[in-house]
Amino acid sequence: VDVKQRKTDIGPPHYSNFLPPVIKKNYGNWKTHEILSPGLMVHIANSGDKIWTVRVASPRLLSTDTLREIADIADKYCDGYFRFTTRNNIEFLVSDESKVQPLIDELNAKKFMIGGIGSRVSNIVHTQGWIHCHSAAVDASALVKAIMDEFADYFTTKETPNKVRFAVACCTNMCGAVHCSDIAYVGIHRKLPRIDHDNFKNVCELPTTMAACPTAAITPDPAKKSIKINPEKCMYCGNCFSVCPALPIADPENDGVAIVVGGKVGNLRKPPMFSKLAVAYLPNNPPRWPEVVKATRKIFDAYIAGAKKHERVGEWIERIGWEKFFAVTGLPFTFQHIDDWTYAFKTFRTTTQFKW
Ligand code: SF4
Ligand code: SF4
Repeated sequence: VDVKQRKTDIGPPHYSNFLPPVIKKNYGNWKTHEILSPGLMVHIANSGDKIWTVRVASPRLLSTDTLREIADIADKYCDGYFRFTTRNNIEFLVSDESKVQPLIDELNAKKFMIGGIGSRVSNIVHTQGWIHCHSAAVDASALVKAIMDEFADYFTTKETPNKVRFAVACCTNMCGAVHCSDIAYVGIHRKLPRIDHDNFKNVCELPTTMAACPTAAITPDPAKKSIKINPEKCMYCGNCFSVCPALPIADPENDGVAIVVGGKVGNLRKPPMFSKLAVAYLPNNPPRWPEVVKATRKIFDAYIAGAKKHERVGEWIERIGWEKFFAVTGLPFTFQHIDDWTYAFKTFRTTTQFKW
């Protein structure tokens, strides 16, 4: 099959169609790269060709007007080439050095925030939140705004011991990168889905609803032509609500946020690491989530103060010990930390033998 010629509306078009000509020409043949300032780096090919990257933050959910503005800037300075990173940074790719500074000047004039490259905070990857998804326990975008405002200077100027990658997922189905980020947030429900027995038979299918439950908590209730949920098995994930609208789970009083720490994707020095539970529950307190921001500040500042250069958050925690992490951050160690959901893998804490 000639993939490049494929014409289909199923799946994304082949990525090579969108590479800037310099990248296409030097594909797989790059020599080095250099970070020139917090939001600017240059990649140098073996041929001597160069491409500059200017990174700006984005709120991820963008208006059509903002997208047009970004596209216009890319047309003006980058022959139309820009990209979104997996953490929703916007990167303008410039192959003509003379256009780099004018691009930076225009981005500054238009109040785009430039930074996020190297050992600092990157844009925060997040999920849909209340604006779009049905099973959200927290509003991802607004929580991201509150956190990014707090740590913006670590995006634009200040350095951290190594990259600090934040992520927000607004429910435990977690279509974000929470499991593999240095500091991350998971929206959590804490009550059973409410079964609307009258509507179940009209809007839901029994087999798909039962199959949607990862813990087999759902069984038929033939008398009601509906289902039952075993409270001992339910983990409040909301997955059943994804396939059955008669099982709403959102709860303004009890939903909230958990914080996990120490994950990473990179293979440098240590293999990729899974995040571990640091804070089991904090209340949903929009629009600025002060409790969540305060807890994050404790983790972040302890990491800045205690980590050696090049240590990611998870590497720092492994070196000082999981017990010490709670001591230096001042976060309470609760019964929820006794066993977390990563028990099947190597964790910071795999026994009850603590060294307080
Ligand atoms: Fe929806 Fe959950 Fe993904 Fe948020 S994390 S967008 S609530 S599936
Ligand atoms: Fe099962 Fe999750 Fe629904 Fe509970 S919330 S019944 S665990 S699918």
